[in-house]
Amino acid sequence: MESHHTPRAGRAGSFCYTQGVGDGFSLPVLGDSLGTTPRISSVLIKPASAVCNLDCSYCFYLDREADPYASLPARRMTEETLERLVDTYLFYSYPNSVLAFQGGEPTLAGPAFFEKLVELEKYYGRDGQTVSNALQTNAILIDDRWCAIFRETNWLLGVSIDGPEEVHDRYRFNKAGHGTWQQVMRGIERLKTNKVEFNVLCVLSQANVDKPREIYRFFRGLGIDYIQYIPLAEFDREGNLLPFTITPQQYGRFLCETFDLWWPDRRSVRIRFFDNIAEAVAGQKPGNCTMHETCDSYVVVEYNGDIYPCDFFVEKSWKLGNVNLDSWPEIARRQGRYQFAAKKTLPRPECQVCEYQPVCHGGCPKLRHGRYRRFEDLDYFCEAYKMIYAKSLEPLKKEVRRLFGDAARVPAQAGSPY
Ligand code: SF4
Ligand code: SF4
Repeated sequence: MESHHTPRAGRAGSFCYTQGVGDGFSLPVLGDSLGTTPRISSVLIKPASAVCNLDCSYCFYLDREADPYASLPARRMTEETLERLVDTYLFYSYPNSVLAFQGGEPTLAGPAFFEKLVELEKYYGRDGQTVSNALQTNAILIDDRWCAIFRETNWLLGVSIDGPEEVHDRYRFNKAGHGTWQQVMRGIERLKTNKVEFNVLCVLSQANVDKPREIYRFFRGLGIDYIQYIPLAEFDREGNLLPFTITPQQYGRFLCETFDLWWPDRRSVRIRFFDNIAEAVAGQKPGNCTMHETCDSYVVVEYNGDIYPCDFFVEKSWKLGNVNLDSWPEIARRQGRYQFAAKKTLPRPECQVCEYQPVCHGGCPKLRHGRYRRFEDLDYFCEAYKMIYAKSLEPLKKEVRRLFGDAARVPAQAGSPY
């Protein structure tokens, strides 16, 4: 369920090639020369596909019927596919390349895979090119070797943890059915000892959604200053809520209470959703795809090089191509990419008259489609969005104005009321 929420560039997490690598000539930025074709601005790579070393009971990936690779036991990206990916994507995305790794559990590909990745990036990166590496992990396998990899090239690392032990261990189990909190905390200790920066990704389920204060204090007590909350919404075939799924009202209350807790700390602590609202308010493109106008900012690269438009839609019918066979400009122009992108713009009567539409853009098609398999439905969490936008937009607008003064593109230049 953690899918597209891999940490993204925006704080620490990149390194730059400034000398001696590559051939020094100036490269065309291919994505910008494709007329109206939207550029693929980042790739979400799954080196071990959806395979995981844990067995969390709420996981979206486990036993997913539409998974095209479910029957294949050993799913690992080969060195050949990795090299082709790095070579071609660094060329396509010059001068700023963002590579995010996720799973399942991406560390199952092993540290040697990621050491090779960095070696390839150094070899194929050009003068002046910035490469950002990000990875989302359950932290179970983290040891000193992993820490050295992350530290050496300043990775942007996200650790999945849902709160204190009794909360985390309600749903996050290992293959033997035991809670994993102790192991995760050992991984976190290794990261801290090795001075590796990381943020946390917290899945909001029935275990923690009614405890915003406890959860916030727990993370602050750990010294965490960047938090992502991901709301759980999974349903059975008839569209009934699965037991861990939270309601829109619960999510809205959680966000509003967390906003109040966070506001006095806003200079030192970042919460991704609030960051994204502030970005929209300032007239920038928010880091979170659910607040984009269309679904075309990134693509998923599966372990065998297959490419899909979104991590929630790794399904045969949405396959766009393969890294080993197709060029990035070809993939960017594929009809399926336009068709998928347009799902977000399907007209919704509620959204068309909604005052928050210029920020929300109708939410996430997965959260429309997930319940009754209809893209035309309203985002399941619409009510929560309305609650947090009503509470946060005014204070964030004032804050952005205060920080950026006339340079802030609010409101008129942003082309939106925000
Ligand atoms: S469906 Fe669109 S908004 Fe939702 S996660 Fe995928 S790309 Fe993002
Ligand atoms: S808040 Fe709800 S109605 Fe408004 S744009 Fe978002 S999903 Fe649509």
